[in-house]
Amino acid sequence: MDARFKSRDIERRSLDVDGLKRSFLEWLVYSVGKDARAATRRDWFHSVALAVRDRVVDRWMDTTRSYYQEDAKRVYYLSLEFLIGRLLTNSLSNLGIMDECRQALDRLGLSMDDVVDAEPDAALGNGGLGRLAACFLDSMASQGLPGYGYGIRYEFGLFEQRFENGWQVEYPEQWLQFGNPWEFARPEVLYPVQFYGRVEEFRDSVGERAYRWVDADRVLAMAYDTPVVGYGGETINTLRLWSARATRDFNFGHFNDGAYMKAVEQKILSENLSRVLYPNDATETGKELRLKQEYFFTSASLQDILRRYLQHHSSFENLPNKAAIQLNDTHPAIGIAELMRLLVDQHALRWDDAWDITRATFAYTNHTLLPEALEAWPVRMIERVLPRHMQIIYEINAKFLNRTKARADGDNARLSRLSLIDERGERRVRMGNLAFLGSHKVNGVSALHTELMKQTVFADFHQEFPDRINNKTNGITPRRWLKQANPALSELITTRIGEGWNSDLSQIAALREKADDVVFREEFRRAKRKNKKRLAAYIARQTGEEVLVDSIFDVQVKRMHEYKRQLLNVLHTIALYNEMRDNPTVSWVPVTKVFAGKAAPSYHMAKLIIKLINDVAKVVNHDPSVHDNLKVVLLPNYNVTAAEIIIPAADLSEQISTAGMEASGTGNMKLALNGALTIGTLDGANVEIREHVGADNIFIFGMTADEVNDLRASGGFNPREVIASNPSLKRALDMISTGAFSPDDRNRYHPIVQALTDGGDHFLVTADFADYCRAQDAAMQLYRDSEEWTRKAILNTANMGWFSSDRTVNEYAQEIWDVHPVKPSHDGEGFR
Ligand SMILES: *Cc1c(COP(=O)(O)O)cnc(C)c1O
Repeated sequence: MDARFKSRDIERRSLDVDGLKRSFLEWLVYSVGKDARAATRRDWFHSVALAVRDRVVDRWMDTTRSYYQEDAKRVYYLSLEFLIGRLLTNSLSNLGIMDECRQALDRLGLSMDDVVDAEPDAALGNGGLGRLAACFLDSMASQGLPGYGYGIRYEFGLFEQRFENGWQVEYPEQWLQFGNPWEFARPEVLYPVQFYGRVEEFRDSVGERAYRWVDADRVLAMAYDTPVVGYGGETINTLRLWSARATRDFNFGHFNDGAYMKAVEQKILSENLSRVLYPNDATETGKELRLKQEYFFTSASLQDILRRYLQHHSSFENLPNKAAIQLNDTHPAIGIAELMRLLVDQHALRWDDAWDITRATFAYTNHTLLPEALEAWPVRMIERVLPRHMQIIYEINAKFLNRTKARADGDNARLSRLSLIDERGERRVRMGNLAFLGSHKVNGVSALHTELMKQTVFADFHQEFPDRINNKTNGITPRRWLKQANPALSELITTRIGEGWNSDLSQIAALREKADDVVFREEFRRAKRKNKKRLAAYIARQTGEEVLVDSIFDVQVKRMHEYKRQLLNVLHTIALYNEMRDNPTVSWVPVTKVFAGKAAPSYHMAKLIIKLINDVAKVVNHDPSVHDNLKVVLLPNYNVTAAEIIIPAADLSEQISTAGMEASGTGNMKLALNGALTIGTLDGANVEIREHVGADNIFIFGMTADEVNDLRASGGFNPREVIASNPSLKRALDMISTGAFSPDDRNRYHPIVQALTDGGDHFLVTADFADYCRAQDAAMQLYRDSEEWTRKAILNTANMGWFSSDRTVNEYAQEIWDVHPVKPSHDGEGFR
């Protein structure tokens, strides 16, 4: 008998307003357990989310079944981070039932916005890397690609940021506190993951040397699945996140000793593995728990991938034709040793065969060139935590170096750079080298970044394997970042060019000719103004500050990091403040500086920069001599939800990292797509954004990556000389250093001033200051000509089509994964 229901029989699949309304009520009463009169907004959110989830489930099963029936090649995206944000609007929008839902809520006397706002923001990531993974999930599902996300179901996501006296204070982010209506717990999908113990050598049945990992501690990885709704609701993919569960087997030694509680304590502690996301962005701290998290989710994912493969196949030689595994940075790179272990130790493959399969299956994305951010685990730690993996890594290394040595004619320095082991100081495993060696393709995330990879971190590997490195410039999903976040602009766009851009963003190029249409320009401005009003209200709610909607919204939103140079922006803010005070009769273009971003809790300099922004804001915003001409706001707790409010309202997008240091950036893409003009350096994807939007429609300033490189190679520069020759820079720095913004603690900013002067100004803030101010002036002058500004803003939106993550994911699919779209067969009615 066919166990599947027929769609029309099931009320909970109905997509019309009445059916939705009945479902909301039914869920409220029978699952949330509340009467409509007593229900809170959160109760309604849960009811609505569960009702929406119902409408996804059978298409989800259809999709999974289609992949299975076609034995399609799947891509597995392994990422320690998924910065997803809220899912309600996303699901409704991709299903095409936003209006129906709004009306159904209306009939219940509820506001859609209130219900939407009751959803916590799923912040299982730090910043760009985790958001990229989330955009890729949306794009894979929207293109019908058989893609799975694998990660960790952190109980606590990225910390909540608050400001107390202007200082960042971190609070736990309890996104699961009231339950998560989107996920399905899979208590039966459970894999053991081992740590510690030792390796035993033995002879296998044919007398070959073999190894087993014994006396290890065990934790179980339990799956939670979240459906990933593609645009149009045709394909529903799966994000599988692992949660740590204690094993049921007790240490009977303890038990017999009467140390029952001690045994139970150990069990409880093992579940800490998936408790909390590490809040560091770009720098690693080398903590054992982090290594265990990386191995935990990687091992569980690989076991799951092999189980799925073995449903159809009895030997492993076809694995690379059925599974592509993408490593999002080196965090899951231990998977290379783990797959070798599973194939060789558990499935008795020969080493060389296992290595060929492993390399053909894995591909690796590099996200940073910053040396302090390249993962390198102490050999002693891996030996202790993952003893069998350490042996495997040594074996991979020995075979590789032996082969290389034959051709390297005694260049030992080169061999030691290629080695998986860094022998300088405490011996460490270079995870980037392991990822490179164990992958058939290695990619950077922008054209510049990929070139720099070839010249710097992977120069020797690139010589050795010249076809392995390739570029895949990042992208963003236009569904979340234009359609959902900016209904005003997206509806306007659709009136002119139809809605094809939602699934094919290259079509947005049709807007180019509208840049010269005065009526369209007026409507474009109206949409921007609406978004600016929304942001102004948000700013007032969050900070109490009133900002002028008609000022330039000059926006820098991203993690706080010295290389991203929020300090450069702050110095310009102070210089502008001084100019305005000096020239009160000039008619200034009013400016609102909007900052947002979290600092890693242990990154003292970044936290001091936060305090400085808040201190500058306090002085500037309360100085009547600049009137409304200048406001400075630092919004707390930057996350995806905040980004969705801030980005559509931006006029000017600050992308001002030291050239050569930002791998790609994706915030730059979101802002340009939403009609902000970029002020930026030739760094990361800014280079390609300039090529697409045109050099006339972007404000480029500062040193190039080559110039930065030459300057550093020539022994740097003397920031004191630069400062002395630029009176406005000198004055701004003097104010900071003499306590003009910190009268309560005049020495507070000594470390900042020190870093910019005697510290040598590693990030070249002072070196780029003058040219940055020139570019800022040009932007302010242009803003006076609102027709011309709008024309350029439209050209930005119209020329950003290439930066859709659909394009990025298609490139991965064709050039790295070799996976193809699968059309699920649905027996029910469609969504649109
Ligand atoms: C896009 C995004 C980022 C990345 O921003 P960059 O400017 O590329 O560093 C970080 N955090 C959130 C919440 C984002 O949405």
